[in-house]
Amino acid sequence: MSIVLVVNSGSSSMKYRLIDMRDETVLASGLIERIGEYRGLVRHDGPNGRHELARRIVDHEAAFEAMIRGFNEHGPSLDDYPPVAVGHRVVQGARRFLAPTVVDDSVERDIEDLIPLAPLHNGANLEGIRGARRAFPDLPHVTVFDTSFHTSMSDAASLYALDRPTAERYRIRRYGAHGSSHKFVSAEAARFLGKPLEDLKIIVLHIGNGASACAVRGGVSIETSMGLTPLEGLVMGTRTGDIDPAVLFHLHRQAGYSVDDLDELLNKKSGLAGLTGSNDMRDVEARARKGDALALTALEIYAHRIRHYIGAYHAQLGGADAVVWTAGVGENSPDARARAMRGLEFLGMKLDPELNDQRVKEPTRISAADSAIDILVVPTNEELEIARQTLQATGIPADA
Ligand code: ADP
Repeated sequence: MSIVLVVNSGSSSMKYRLIDMRDETVLASGLIERIGEYRGLVRHDGPNGRHELARRIVDHEAAFEAMIRGFNEHGPSLDDYPPVAVGHRVVQGARRFLAPTVVDDSVERDIEDLIPLAPLHNGANLEGIRGARRAFPDLPHVTVFDTSFHTSMSDAASLYALDRPTAERYRIRRYGAHGSSHKFVSAEAARFLGKPLEDLKIIVLHIGNGASACAVRGGVSIETSMGLTPLEGLVMGTRTGDIDPAVLFHLHRQAGYSVDDLDELLNKKSGLAGLTGSNDMRDVEARARKGDALALTALEIYAHRIRHYIGAYHAQLGGADAVVWTAGVGENSPDARARAMRGLEFLGMKLDPELNDQRVKEPTRISAADSAIDILVVPTNEELEIARQTLQATGIPADA
């Protein structure tokens, strides 16, 4: 049985999913929150539904113990469904990790070396890997990097016009993120369209709380909107996206903001949250429907930036076969899609208002019959993509 355990470790949380790769069904999933705090939360969704309990989880190793207890008590038993490998999401692989990699001590050291490039993420990812290797010492562990899919970007797309020695010394370039999602969604779109991925030019819009656009040519990322970190690009739940860096000098000189203040302002207090007070698109849309002017302006800023990237990537790709919407907002908000695609008919992108208004769980076409470019909604599944890449890296067949 080719069963893969997928783990996504954050600094204070850990998500997991047990997937039977023969038919890609989810056997169980779970979430452990507030690791290291006085009172943690353990949630396990197994064959008998959801089980939740509050208990102290001191560190990531304890989180794995809690997860194993969840499987023992609520099923399915890991003796009956033993994983053949563990797949780990890692945010930053820089130019060191071009593909999923089987973990050994030197891989751990390299991920540690990349912590300065992703201080909020790589350290936590590494804690998860270490905890998992202690919990499952006999299994292969594979790291799947958010950045690997974008290592195909040219220097023209990924280098900033920054003093070269400084950029090289501090490894400053655009690395992108959401790679597993962009890869999964573009492959699904090709399958849905019944065309070889190698022949397609696709603009993928992963629009969730975090958001990024990606230009995919022949299954390869040629450009993406996130940069050195996931701050660049689109307007997000709490992040500014693109902004003139001189705003930072201005706030520092005029208002005495420190580096940490600026980091918090741009990453946590901006985006939809900064513009309206809520980072949740559902709230912002509800307020806009009631005529709230701030909420309406926020939705227009949000849509304007997405439209900007659709146009840019249409140009970089030299045309497009499909525009694909995914993630929380992309999959669920007809309003966000319609607002962003307004006025793009001249490019051959024309939504069908009725198709766009549907709630979908499967890949679906939402463009009008006379739209030259297909517009699709394709639900993302990053965990499944990580599980697929994990098996590939270990060489274990999915139907073993
Ligand atoms: P994350 O980046 O945290 O993975 P998600 O992809 O889950 O985020 O997306 C979360 C966002 O999706 C939130 O802003 C949420 O409001 C939005 N969202 C979810 N459902 C809807 C809906 N029905 N309409 C509008 N927005 C939605």
